[in-house]
This record gives sequence, structure tokens and C-alpha cells, in this order.
Amino acid sequence: MHEAIAAEWSPAALDGQKVLVVFAHPDDSDFYLGGTIARLTQAGAEVFYLCATRGDKGDASGALSGEQISAVRASEQIAAAEILGVHHVQFIGLPDGQVTYNRELIDSIVQAIRKIRPNIVIALDTNILDPAWGVNHADHRAVGLATIDAVYPYARNKNELPDLPAHEVQTLLIVNYREPNCFIDITGAPFESKKAALSAHTSQWGDCQHVIRKAEAMGMRETFIRVVW
Ligand SMILES: [Zn+2]
Repeated sequence: MHEAIAAEWSPAALDGQKVLVVFAHPDDSDFYLGGTIARLTQAGAEVFYLCATRGDKGDASGALSGEQISAVRASEQIAAAEILGVHHVQFIGLPDGQVTYNRELIDSIVQAIRKIRPNIVIALDTNILDPAWGVNHADHRAVGLATIDAVYPYARNKNELPDLPAHEVQTLLIVNYREPNCFIDITGAPFESKKAALSAHTSQWGDCQHVIRKAEAMGMRETFIRVVW
């Protein structure tokens, strides 16, 4: 991380502001930016989650069917979101592990942007490597890239999907560890909220202690590329 060039962003008063977070699997947002979500809701923002899949490949034991684990993971995601003060959780319902970057995915995200009309959109990291897990899951990369393209140019171009009015997002935050230009300090209460949210995902991480240690190892800064229009 190039800490010298990453400036702190401290969300202060966000009353009336809407934030849309787009991610691939139940737990992604809580792990990569749970502290940031806690700070945004604390600052008065209304946060919406849009999750591309229901995590139907997320049962390592093999004991549950895809449908069963999807239901478990959706309810875990809703519980974690409530802990962080998230206003609403929506699932696109794509199959886990098969998310591809294409116009259909971009259009699904454009539709959510135009209906919710957020001031801020947050996208997943699009890099191949990930400091927490080694390789950044292909679904994360596809959803991250599609989210960026949905924000600019598609959601703001009135000639795209003309049935819904165009919408200009003002700020895009892209999760990034390699060349962030912005970080959010999650020391203290935001990190405690993040730990509590991670602890909701028991189907993935059992007692969740190892993933909490992993989150601690990532440090008390969640880092982003911040683009402002
Ligand atoms: Zn994931």
C-alpha cells in the first residue's frame, strides 16, 4: 500500500445521502469494507447492498444443496447488514462462481443505480491478487469491473436503458490495496461492528475467529480508489 499518497477520508455528515455497495457473495462487503459501512451509517447515510449471487457454492462440507446454502447465506447477509445499519439488501441471484463481466451484469447494476439514485457507489477490487486470500475471486473482479462501468458511463447516459431516468453518481469508491488514493480509519467502534458483522457468517467461517484475525491483519484502514465527479 502506498500510504504516503493515500489521503484519509473521514465521512462526517451524510444525512440524506445514499450509498450503494455492489459485491459478489454474501460476506464480501462485510469483510472488505465493514468498518467503512459502519462509519457511513453512523454518519447518517442510507446504505443499500446489492449482492450478485446468493453464494450457492459456499458450503465446503457438501452437506447442503445449493438452494439450502443460498437461503442460509442470504439470511446471514441480512443479519450482518442489520448489525452495520444497512438499510436494504438486494440479491441479483446469479449463480455463484459463474459471474461474468458482460452487458447483462452491467445493466442489472445500472437498473439498481437508477432506482436507488445513490450519491456514492462502492465497487469491489478488480485486481487479480488479494492481500487477504492470495487471489481475488473471479466473481469479485467481474462484479467490480461491471460496477465501475455501470457508474460511468452507462447509468448517466440517458440513451442507455431509456425506460429508467439517467442518474449521475457523485463519488465512486473502489476497494483497492495496490494504489489507493484514499483510506477510511476503522479504529475502535467501526472495527467492533465489522467483527460483529463477520461473526454473522457462520456457514462460511464457523466461529469466525480466523476470519476476524485475518481482518485484523488487514489493519485499521480500509483503502480505496476514490473518484469524484
Ligand atoms: Zn466473495
